[in-house]
Amino acid sequence: MDARYNPPAIESKWQAHWRELGLDRTPELTAESRKFYALSMFPYPSGSLHMGHVRNYTITDVIARHKRMQGYAVLHPMGWDAFGLPAENAAIDRGIPPAKWTYQNIAQMRDQLQRLGLSYDWEREITTCAPDYYKWTQWLFLQFFKAGLAYQKEAPVNWDPVDQTVLANEQVDAEGRSWRSGALVEKRLLKQWFLKITAYADQLLADLEKLSGWPERVLTMQENWIGQSVGARVVFKTETGEELPVFTTRPDTLWGATFMVLAPEHPLVEKLTTPEQEVAVKAYRAEAAARSEIERSAEDREKTGVWTGSYAINPVNQERIPIWIADYVLMGYGTGAIMAVPAHDQRDFEFARQFGLPIKLVVQPPQGGVTSAEDLQAAWTGEGVLINSGPLDGIPVGKGPGQSVERAIAWLEEQGLGERQVNYRLRDWLISRQRYWGCPIPIIHCPHCGIVPVPEEDLPVLLPEDVELTGRGGSPLAQLEDWVKVKCPACGADARRETDTMDTFICSSWYFLRFSDPRNDREIFRKDLVNAWLPVDQYVGGIEHAILHLLYARFFTKVLRDLGLLNFDEPFSRLLTQGMVQARTYYNPNKSGKDRWIPTALVKDPNDPRDPETGEPLQVIYATMSKSKGNGVDPEEVLANYGADTARMFILFKAPPEKDLEWDDADVEGQFRFLNRVWRQVYDFVSRGGGTESLQAKVEAGSLTKAERDLRRAVHTAIKEVSEDLEEYQFNTAIAGLMKLSNALAEAEIPDSPVYAEGIRTLVLLLAPFAPHMAEELWQALGGTDSVHRQAWPTYDPAALVADTVTIVVQVNGKLRGSFEAPADVTPQEQERLALQSEAAQRYLQGMTPKRVIVVPKKLVNLVV
Ligand SMILES: [Zn+2]
Repeated sequence: MDARYNPPAIESKWQAHWRELGLDRTPELTAESRKFYALSMFPYPSGSLHMGHVRNYTITDVIARHKRMQGYAVLHPMGWDAFGLPAENAAIDRGIPPAKWTYQNIAQMRDQLQRLGLSYDWEREITTCAPDYYKWTQWLFLQFFKAGLAYQKEAPVNWDPVDQTVLANEQVDAEGRSWRSGALVEKRLLKQWFLKITAYADQLLADLEKLSGWPERVLTMQENWIGQSVGARVVFKTETGEELPVFTTRPDTLWGATFMVLAPEHPLVEKLTTPEQEVAVKAYRAEAAARSEIERSAEDREKTGVWTGSYAINPVNQERIPIWIADYVLMGYGTGAIMAVPAHDQRDFEFARQFGLPIKLVVQPPQGGVTSAEDLQAAWTGEGVLINSGPLDGIPVGKGPGQSVERAIAWLEEQGLGERQVNYRLRDWLISRQRYWGCPIPIIHCPHCGIVPVPEEDLPVLLPEDVELTGRGGSPLAQLEDWVKVKCPACGADARRETDTMDTFICSSWYFLRFSDPRNDREIFRKDLVNAWLPVDQYVGGIEHAILHLLYARFFTKVLRDLGLLNFDEPFSRLLTQGMVQARTYYNPNKSGKDRWIPTALVKDPNDPRDPETGEPLQVIYATMSKSKGNGVDPEEVLANYGADTARMFILFKAPPEKDLEWDDADVEGQFRFLNRVWRQVYDFVSRGGGTESLQAKVEAGSLTKAERDLRRAVHTAIKEVSEDLEEYQFNTAIAGLMKLSNALAEAEIPDSPVYAEGIRTLVLLLAPFAPHMAEELWQALGGTDSVHRQAWPTYDPAALVADTVTIVVQVNGKLRGSFEAPADVTPQEQERLALQSEAAQRYLQGMTPKRVIVVPKKLVNLVV
């Protein structure tokens, strides 16, 4: 062991040794195994790690290492979410084939991950763009197709009229222009593939209850995204006999419907438009087509619309009500038609006021006040009782049993006017991409047979790699005639391959399952293995995946369960969403847009930061590290300056895992100093010859001196606290516990006691999950033969935690009258109370109350009478 802590040397040495040893290999599960599956969300191989990655992977690694020492069989794998647009853009910009670019990046990032000392089982590495993986993605698509869960229908795409190609949303800028040609992007309808996630909407919602190990806010986000609403479907008829079904969550306000509104795209609009209104309706529809959905549904927008000239009949009271079109009603949601109840819906209220349409009060708000529609300043959406509502008059408003909504649905069903309906905001998942670098959809289009699935024995449908990408002229795969032309597997006729590729979110919707059996080339995974390892016990990733990735992964799990491939309902038992990594960020308040951010590297004096161009003083804030702000700290730099162990310690110590973390060089330095101190403590101990015997040191609890008892209490308190903090993922306080133990060892003046040896050994063991390289080096210096990471996690001796006692002297009027034992941590108040109860006090006071009590903490009590 060197006297000096030299991280680069020991870190690379142990990384190589652990690889040889197969330390992080996943053990075979046996009947006795307790399994633990720890997983970080796998990265997109952009080419280099950023601090957010380092934080995510460090958190999961500490959990995995701790569980291994606790005796669990741990699965801790890593892979690559490797299809996607950046590789394709790089190919277009720089002429590097996407596969080459991707695999280069993977190699670089794998090397970085290994240098961070992350304990992955690299034998289980998976890469979604590799044929041995996407073969099974395609196979899954076929199972979805056969189960009726994959289908084709027309949907709008972003069309670049200059380059004649479809663009991804990310390739369209904020002004709606193509990233490449700069042309204004148009919407075009194309036949595209969808997965029927809506068939699982009810389960995806109901099973959120099973996810008690997930953050509340993620559950809420999923719930809102699924967006269940309970209401009624009611059919309105037009005067000409057309049917206009609507879905409403407020069927109790049907008597207050005074007009109807259709989406401008509604298929009946042309039929319903009277000749007098034709010009106005046409113009309005053209205007609406140019607006985005987000713009159309903005709440604060002034309401616009046009009357069609037609009327409908309100089925509950036979009133004649006008039919309008307005862009705040969307075709893709519900039926594309609404009944408007302006008195009790704010958007309808604003619309009615704008166009002078009647407003009819059907809910009487409590405590008087508003008695007629004229008094309303805004729609009344609160409680009250129904009025002007025929058979429902007097019923209290609400969604509960016996309240207005349920009673209205029951009445509509009785009368045959409507029926209960549960709607979801969730829509089917559009998975077609008119892009090259993705998993090919295994479908063949035959002029005779229509859509024909590629036979399973012909999988994978290989993605051709020798393709030149220009970003122009349509889908890249469609241009490869040799690849596209194929015989129909059903009839043998000339047919064409599907040229769309799959959304990369499909590749990441099942990767966590494949890790249970990643090299299987005969089936997607063995059922017994996937059932044994899953669900993932701890999943760790960014909050940005709270909705889509997690929802899709849950959907896939449920479909695979229904296909009989696995037998659990939910893929991730516990979820941790780690906070962002922020850094000091400089901006010039006199500049705007991207230019206002001044990269940290250009700021000469952090104490007087100035714009390098203008010399103006800069403002400083903490913001999430990003390229655009130039405030990132490169993990490579930290590795080079301090080593992986310090980087890990800092990231874990600086903030609890779910909170944002502010990067601070001084605190990094602080962790480096702490590790140096531990190094020196162990070095000094070993130099005195304390090594090997510390591993065997037996502490005879019965015959310890007070100093030994005190130190032993500190050692076992550290075991208890660090263990509990690790269970709760409170890594920052766990590291504080390690610091306390190190301090206690430094202050104890008993370096030759077996208790000291026990303390040194414990410190090294407790350090192992956090600073794995240093702990290994110190363990070996102590004479350990096997790896420190194969040692059992220490357990504490409850008896050692019990506080020692002190002897308190009792005086009466300054004279020594006796003594008693009190706990070593006794408070002055408690000491006084015990003194008054003591035998000496009872005997000498004889019932008198002392005039004054003088307490010398932990030593003496003088009772003055
Ligand atoms: Zn055919």
